[in-house]
Amino acid sequence: MASYFDEHDCEPTGDSGPELSTLIQWARLLMNDYRSFAMRFEGHQLPEELMKAPPASKEVVEELPDVNITTQNSGNKCPVCLIPFQIGDKCKELPCKHQFHHRCILPWLKQTNSCPVCRHELPTDDEDYEEYRKEKARAKQRAYEMESLHNSMYT
Ligand SMILES: [Zn+2]
Ligand SMILES: [Zn+2]
Repeated sequence: MASYFDEHDCEPTGDSGPELSTLIQWARLLMNDYRSFAMRFEGHQLPEELMKAPPASKEVVEELPDVNITTQNSGNKCPVCLIPFQIGDKCKELPCKHQFHHRCILPWLKQTNSCPVCRHELPTDDEDYEEYRKEKARAKQRAYEMESLHNSMYT
């Protein structure tokens, strides 16, 4: 039975050949992926600042831990209203460890999904936005891989 190389009237490439072409193919795929992402979001001038963040997921907000205000942490200021916490205040702690009055953070998280202090993002119930976030993270990872690949090929 004739081999692939006989049929196509060409010589098998050396040891490094197939490996390199795989690498180039992979790089092309990566480039296309990254371009389509860039076109979808950057081309339409929809950087993340303009992509309106949806409210935090209700479930996630309900599960945020309550903080007991004791003599230890009373006196710390709520970053939203700047009023010091008092014993007996109802407070919530976000995953980024920032603490707020219920009355300050709950209305906020009904508007948007990020911490008012550090912009740490909470999950949302908005599928489009979650997809956008995932894609953004993937594109970032790809850009990083492209750069490493580029560096390894040209240095
Ligand atoms: Zn407050
Ligand atoms: Zn925070």
